[in-house]
Amino acid sequence: MPSAQLTRPRLWVPSTVYVTASAQAEPHGRAILERLTAAGVQDVHLLGGDRLPALRGADERATYAAAKRTLAVVTSAASKRRPTPIPPSADFSFPIAEGCPGHCQYCYLAGSLAGPPITRVYADLPRILAGLDDVVGTGAVTSGTAERGHEGTTFEASCYTDPLAVEHVTGSLAATITHFGTHEWAGPVQLRLTTKYDDVEGLLDLPHGGRTRVRASVNVADVERFEGGTARVAARLRALGRLARAGYPVGLTIAPIMPVDDWRAAYGELLAAAGAELAGVPGLDLTVECITHRFTPKSKDVQLGWYPRTKLDLDEDARTRKLGKFGAVKYVYDKDTMRELRTWFEDALARELPAARYLYWT
Ligand code: SF4
Repeated sequence: MPSAQLTRPRLWVPSTVYVTASAQAEPHGRAILERLTAAGVQDVHLLGGDRLPALRGADERATYAAAKRTLAVVTSAASKRRPTPIPPSADFSFPIAEGCPGHCQYCYLAGSLAGPPITRVYADLPRILAGLDDVVGTGAVTSGTAERGHEGTTFEASCYTDPLAVEHVTGSLAATITHFGTHEWAGPVQLRLTTKYDDVEGLLDLPHGGRTRVRASVNVADVERFEGGTARVAARLRALGRLARAGYPVGLTIAPIMPVDDWRAAYGELLAAAGAELAGVPGLDLTVECITHRFTPKSKDVQLGWYPRTKLDLDEDARTRKLGKFGAVKYVYDKDTMRELRTWFEDALARELPAARYLYWT
């Protein structure tokens, strides 16, 4: 990978910040406010209540752009705090934030967030973390399974956000990793997160206790071009190597896998680059997760509103229609393409990353 790709993007700083009244009352909310002030953010609105103002641009694209420049410091609703099963990744998901300042054209959040994609960070993080004790030992995705039972009760922090994308202005991820590493839990636990960012300096010396697995979300150049505002893949791999050398269990989330031109050669190079980065790490604990590209009618609609000129393949006729949880429609690659991709990846992973534990294909 060319060294030019190692140039780091500027850390995201919001143009506008809203802090709800409840968030202002939380010590972690006030700490976030101090970080934002130190980062030079001037357009900060301390709200008298907990309702965020409506955000409307001239059209959907303008609303999207304004929302992606906005950060809201809020407290979590009880329904959001509740840990929710999240197969095949983890026993439970829980939120430390919702939304992300990145501009990935295929972003899975397009189909799941309501309204303009403002990034919301939670000021009541201690309350969210305290709620996790109730479910330790009760999961069904990793807990009690033959293949992944040793991971303990697993908690996924990146279902609604990229937790590293806003870490420099929140400190929420460091606090969460420290909580997992130092809290007395009723049984074995693991925090899981996946990221397209690389600013890991502040995580290296945390007392993680080996209870946090950070995965780098990686892809080939033809897919990376859809990932605006994120760190380059080479930089993500380098950051992953630093975390592994700091004793963190690590992983690769290869997503979304797309059969682009020369995909075998391109993904082969990607796996080799990951292997080179992680070579010689003492006691390396590495996993791999493979997720193929998919979309739903809703995510397609939202993505086309946000990125009207996208070159992303969103052609339903070229896909297989599948019914997901609760009857929701999604469009995935056809059976032959899936088989071809999967067979190739399983062989290539065994060849390029023999030390890795392969968790799932979807
Ligand atoms: S980094 Fe992840 S969460 Fe953020 S825009 Fe990209 S895909 Fe979405």
